[in-house]
Amino acid sequence: MLISVVVPCFNEEDVIARFHDHLVMELAMIGHDFEIVYVDDGSRDRTLSILEQLGDRDGHVRFVSFSRNFGKEAAMLAGLQHASGDAVVIMDADLQHPPELIRRMVDLHADGYDQVIAKRTREGDRVTRTIAARAYYRVINRLVDVELVDGVGDFRMLSRRATDAVLELTEYNRFSKGLFAWVGFPTATFEYQNAVREQGRSKWTFGKLLNYGLDGLLSFNNKPLRIALYLGMLLLSVAFAYAAWIVGGALVNGVRTPGYVTLVVAITALSGVQMVMLGVAGEYVGRIYYEVKRRPHYLVKATNVALVQTGSRNAPEVRKELVR
Ligand code: UDP
Ligand code: MG
Repeated sequence: MLISVVVPCFNEEDVIARFHDHLVMELAMIGHDFEIVYVDDGSRDRTLSILEQLGDRDGHVRFVSFSRNFGKEAAMLAGLQHASGDAVVIMDADLQHPPELIRRMVDLHADGYDQVIAKRTREGDRVTRTIAARAYYRVINRLVDVELVDGVGDFRMLSRRATDAVLELTEYNRFSKGLFAWVGFPTATFEYQNAVREQGRSKWTFGKLLNYGLDGLLSFNNKPLRIALYLGMLLLSVAFAYAAWIVGGALVNGVRTPGYVTLVVAITALSGVQMVMLGVAGEYVGRIYYEVKRRPHYLVKATNVALVQTGSRNAPEVRKELVR
């Protein structure tokens, strides 16, 4: 069995060499064949040159380097595309995903699980972030079709068929938490103690997390559009009822002229609601725009893996070879 480990790296010069040693030690103990696919996501530090050195020194190392920062989702996609293993592990380079857990993943994979997920506890997280995450998952699981679990990230092992299934999802807006859940297959989950990042710093800011959350909400169905529609209908019926009440009052009591405040409040509230609805619709249109353009998910600047296309044009087969 060949195990591939996919590692997205963005400005990880501080940890990457240490991570590599640790990982290789662990994989060697497991005893299966292995390869490590590093994806340099357009780092602006020495990450690429370190990866090149590792590649020269260690025959297990494959690397792909992007022309600029395309984001972790694109990096994971590239890693999966360049991995040729029977089982593929995805993990972070910052040692927050302990390599010791791979052994357990291999065992569970051998038991027939296509996805083996290491779920982190929220220990050591800021309380606010924990609460926000809880609330978010409660809301989102009511809205989207797939089940998203708090603490379940990208640290997991995929079987070959699960990997191929993920690669069939070619959408441009990739929300991999959802994509993995969408693929399904027998899945095993186990918990591990969350480790605090050792060096460098997390690339997640509050704004990024907020955007990520919205992506999750919008990537998986059109329920927000449906909610906008219902809200519109609700407001319309309220307006009708109010109109009837006013007209009725005018018929009974004659016309008086109060209501300036009501008028202003109604106008601002309604235009606010309309803005939100336009925004929701716009989000989807924007997504369609990106999908329709069919741009590549990433561009490669340097690599030591050659993707060789063989087979027929209709059913191309891709062979991955190390360039020497
Ligand atoms: N990463 C990446 N591209 C990015 C941001 C992050 O490839 O644009 C990688 C990063 O090098 C790390 C992993 O994704 O290996 C997780 O990033 P980070 O530790 O910043 O996120 P967190 O652990 O806080 O969720
Ligand atoms: Mg991290």
